[in-house]
Amino acid sequence: MSPRSNNHEHEHRIAVYPGSFDPVTFGHLDIIRRAAKQFDQLIVAVLNNTSKSPLFSVDERKKLLADVTRDLPNVEIDSFRDLLVRYMRSRQAQVIVRGIRSVTDFEYELQMASTNRQLDEGIETVFMMTNPKYSYLSSSIVKEIAKFNGPVQDLVPPAVEAELQRKYTPPKENSN
Ligand code: ADP
Repeated sequence: MSPRSNNHEHEHRIAVYPGSFDPVTFGHLDIIRRAAKQFDQLIVAVLNNTSKSPLFSVDERKKLLADVTRDLPNVEIDSFRDLLVRYMRSRQAQVIVRGIRSVTDFEYELQMASTNRQLDEGIETVFMMTNPKYSYLSSSIVKEIAKFNGPVQDLVPPAVEAELQRKYTPPKENSN
């Protein structure tokens, strides 16, 4: 038995890592792995945002996330379309995890974190700095490369690469 299980003071720490994940990249996965070590439970929550037109449906994005996090027992994949802080309350989560790649990310993230604090003071945003290897990496860059049939194997897990190929392969023409 771990010493922790006798400690009644120990709070079950649940964090939410929200995002579009359209699709999940090695940059996201690096944040997921590192955040999973810091919390008892990590919920990766796909934002069901009707104002963006994504390449992958929410279900496809969830499936890919589930596939690439299979070896992480305390990571759960979910989606939400509500206000983030409200979703957090419904999941009894206290911490929002976000990744930071650049100063540009920082400005936007600071605005988001401040807004969420305004909405619910009990919720904390924790930022994790990107692994420098992935500081230039975004879902949009990956889609741009894949669209032109470029190599993405260093940017996304194999399952994602396969799905990107499927999306961008033109349907065979009936040419007879
Ligand atoms: P959103 O539309 O919410 O920005 P994304 O899927 O683009 O959704 O990103 C989700 C989170 O992951 C954000 O906090 C973003 O900064 C972070 N992130 C994205 N790519 C990387 C990367 N290469 N390294 C570290 N964090 C990243």
